[in-house]
Amino acid sequence: MVGSSPSTLVMKFGGTSVGTAEAMAQTAQIVQRQRSLTRRLVVVTSALSGVTDLLLSSAMAAARGDTTTYNQAVQTLRNKHEAILKSLIDDRSRQEEVRSAITLLILDFANLCQAIAILGEATPRALDAVASLGERMSVRLLAAVLENIGVTAQFVEATRLVVTDDHFQAAHPDLDATRMATRAVLNTLLDQGIVPVVTGFIGATPSGVTTTLGRGGSDYTAALLGASLPADEVWIWTDVDGVMTADPRIVPQATTIEELTYREVSELAYAGAKVLHPKTIRPVIEAGIGLRVLNTFNPDNPGTRLVSELPITDHHVVKSVTAIRGQSLITLEGRGMLGVPGVAARTFSAIASTGTSVTLISQASSEQSICFAVPLEAAAKVVSALQKEFFHEFQRKDIDRVWSTEEVVIVTVVGEGMKSTPGVAGRVFSALGDKKINVIAIAQGSSEVSISFVLRAEEVRPAVQTLHDLVIRKEVV
Ligand code: ADP
Ligand code: ASP
Ligand code: MG
Repeated sequence: MVGSSPSTLVMKFGGTSVGTAEAMAQTAQIVQRQRSLTRRLVVVTSALSGVTDLLLSSAMAAARGDTTTYNQAVQTLRNKHEAILKSLIDDRSRQEEVRSAITLLILDFANLCQAIAILGEATPRALDAVASLGERMSVRLLAAVLENIGVTAQFVEATRLVVTDDHFQAAHPDLDATRMATRAVLNTLLDQGIVPVVTGFIGATPSGVTTTLGRGGSDYTAALLGASLPADEVWIWTDVDGVMTADPRIVPQATTIEELTYREVSELAYAGAKVLHPKTIRPVIEAGIGLRVLNTFNPDNPGTRLVSELPITDHHVVKSVTAIRGQSLITLEGRGMLGVPGVAARTFSAIASTGTSVTLISQASSEQSICFAVPLEAAAKVVSALQKEFFHEFQRKDIDRVWSTEEVVIVTVVGEGMKSTPGVAGRVFSALGDKKINVIAIAQGSSEVSISFVLRAEEVRPAVQTLHDLVIRKEVV
């Protein structure tokens, strides 16, 4: 495996790493091997792959009055968990124990969906209660599978560890409260030589109401626990060989990046590289602990190591390219805009009042407009919030119009070397131009380690592939 043996280690396994009996057996073997090297080992797991999607889509269907979908989902959930349970837990009574715990959670799911159907509404709070069930099932299963191969393990629900506010579906953790709760619960287990198997993704408010940290949030859980203990390292186990030069689903010839700085990986994660949840990096940097991304299905590959600094050589100019789909570009435009005080501040607070976060702010081509990207589904409400905010300016014709585009994508190239290398944007532009890909807007990341391009949705693949050629040919100098 990785060949290192930190004395306190948090290892997080994603949905595909526990999604089938073969995958979970592989995960259990990785834990078993690491257990012999690491005295204090904490495991964090996601729900089985596909489960969170299924839970949430069933709840949304229930809110529309569809009671068939969740009833079918009940069966799918049973089958998925049962298949693993049967093949990886030998002891009959242990099998039965885990089966009945999972059955109870599935019953909770059906009851919650029924309540949602009756109310005709799925509140964020209800959706978090539903979504949390996936991890609550998977930890029970994985802990039992570990025990089956002789690893003393205990499942733990992170509602006891991660204390958050009540911003359901994207809750913010209270770091001090989380540190205290995490140490109290996990140290007791670790001191007894037990491997805690903790639910990723979920937390609870101080009064105990279940919350979630946002989709893909199990990586963040691992970072929070790692920072709280503190651990020496956090290892994120996934289904690819670490952080790569591009999403291998878009660029099959993408390769693993052996070392990447925290700044680079932050930019990549915020710019859509799903391999790491963007919030994972901050707690890890602040606690000064190591972070790696590894492949469950190729555990001997060293994956990617995240570091604070790297020497900048020409090899490091552009390291990776990534994309966020499903965006809309909104422009506020008017010749009298320059004379209106506080336009930018009012624009962004009007957007914030809709609960939308801005994905990109572009340097406007003229000083008479403000241009930014938001998720496509939020575009209509943002436009109407701006129309309301600037009602008087519209009447006075200081602002002429506000409009949103059809779906666009944001493609981002990332690399620390760009800071000290002139001409990168130009080189990237001409590569896109050579392929007749039209750039609608451009923005440079605040830390100067990334440049983002807004493009038409259908150009995402050719654009990512073209820019990836620059990464692998190391030509962007
Ligand atoms: P997990 O379930 O383990 O959390 P995710 O599906 O959330 O896994 O993230 C892993 C996926 O991220 C990969 O399968 C890959 O398709 C995608 N991905 C996107 N960009 C990158 C990148 N730059 N490097 C590696 N993987 C990436
Ligand atoms: N299971 C959650 C999700 O699918 C969290 C995670 O996998 O990280 O979003
Ligand atoms: Mg993930």
